[in-house]
Amino acid sequence: MIPGVDPRLLEKWEPVIGLEVHAQLATESKMFCRCRRIYGAPPNTHTCPVCLAYPGALPVLNAQAVEFAIRMGQAVGCQIRSLTTFARKNYFYPDLPKGYQISQYDEPICEHGQLSFYLEDGSMSTVGITRIHMEEDAGKTIHGVKNESYVDFNRCGTPLIEIVSEPDIRSPHEARRYLERLKQTLEYTAVSQADMEKGNLRCDANISIRPRGSQTLGTRTEMKNLNSFRGVERGLTYEINRQIQVLESGGTVTLCTLNWDEATGETQIMRTKEEAHDYRYFPEPDLVPLLIDPQRVAAIKASLPELPAALERRFTEQYGLRSQDVEILARTRQLAAYYEAVVQAGVAPTDAAQWILGEVLRVLNEEHQEIQDFPLKPAALAELIQATTQGTINRNTGKNVFDKMLKEGLSVTEIVERDQLAQVSDTAALEDTVRQVLAGSPKELGRYRGGEAKLFGYFMGQVMAATKGQGDPQVVRSLLQQILDES
Ligand SMILES: [Zn+2]
Repeated sequence: MIPGVDPRLLEKWEPVIGLEVHAQLATESKMFCRCRRIYGAPPNTHTCPVCLAYPGALPVLNAQAVEFAIRMGQAVGCQIRSLTTFARKNYFYPDLPKGYQISQYDEPICEHGQLSFYLEDGSMSTVGITRIHMEEDAGKTIHGVKNESYVDFNRCGTPLIEIVSEPDIRSPHEARRYLERLKQTLEYTAVSQADMEKGNLRCDANISIRPRGSQTLGTRTEMKNLNSFRGVERGLTYEINRQIQVLESGGTVTLCTLNWDEATGETQIMRTKEEAHDYRYFPEPDLVPLLIDPQRVAAIKASLPELPAALERRFTEQYGLRSQDVEILARTRQLAAYYEAVVQAGVAPTDAAQWILGEVLRVLNEEHQEIQDFPLKPAALAELIQATTQGTINRNTGKNVFDKMLKEGLSVTEIVERDQLAQVSDTAALEDTVRQVLAGSPKELGRYRGGEAKLFGYFMGQVMAATKGQGDPQVVRSLLQQILDES
């Protein structure tokens, strides 16, 4: 099943998808020079003779970038080459002052990995990773300012890794989940900020269609600019439909590069696809081959943090949470850490999950905030949750207090005291209220006695309102039952 594709055609045709994902590495400086790697600076303020390709300027490899590439390789189970080399990929574009990109070709730093993740239906998918290689980013062209085009070289030489998957993906949804897992892994390992909106993470796809049961690959097209999760799903669905239509009508798919336009929901042909030899790859003469010490690789492996799959497994087992809740809590390392801090402050794991998945995520979504910037620290939230579980305030009051804590920056105790919100569990006081409510509603009482049991809820509501929501609902319920049963 692929939403948006005719299921009868899918019985006949099988989509085959591989992704090429570029991730900017979270280094301080660029790949081959000392310029700062920075996003959003005024144009052309972070450049030097090396990244602007002045004649005679020589590249010096950024050791941190190599470390990050190895780190990501280890996180997805790749083999790390003991000898890796750089190559020149030649092409002309105004945002590429050298006329070539320093990349890696036949000896990439990492090979033969895999990534596992769950699909929507709960089944597990494993996608092979062919290779991860290091390269440098190009600059940025800005079109259409006063009918002119500009070039900003700040991004030139930004360290990248390109993560190339095997053609193991069979649906747009699977592609999206793969990309989400990749982003999550890049963030957990702190290899990249992996922010798609800032272009830290960019995705291209290779797509082909073949008759079901066939083992040979059909002619593929390459799709560029799938730069949001939604874009990946929409773009791939569009291209799968297009290729199936071509094949169904007896035509053949031509090798080409397509550009996905998120705004129109369509693709344009950028160019008929060049082959690798069009780039005239050759060994980079200005950089020596890189020998990688196996001990260094082992040390990097040992320093890896807990990865998403392992954390999800642990959360499920240790805290007894539902898998769909775990998936959300583990989405970022910071959210998972926030959750654990609330639990460690003494809150029951399921209560902590309920509050974070409900109230906290609601506010984060409304405010477009990340958990790192959330003003309520785990200890403060824990204190609030405990006030509700220990019966100081009831759950509904708790939600109001939560909003007030956020707005006013006060503690639970301060708000409860100031607003006199403490829950009334005093039976004698509540009994008076219950009797007053019943005495004030003779008509409803008559109907209740006549068999309209649902009016119990009406009385509950009246009593809770009379206590301004501060009555302990359990005590009110049992008192009400007791008094109604009396006569
Ligand atoms: Zn530079």
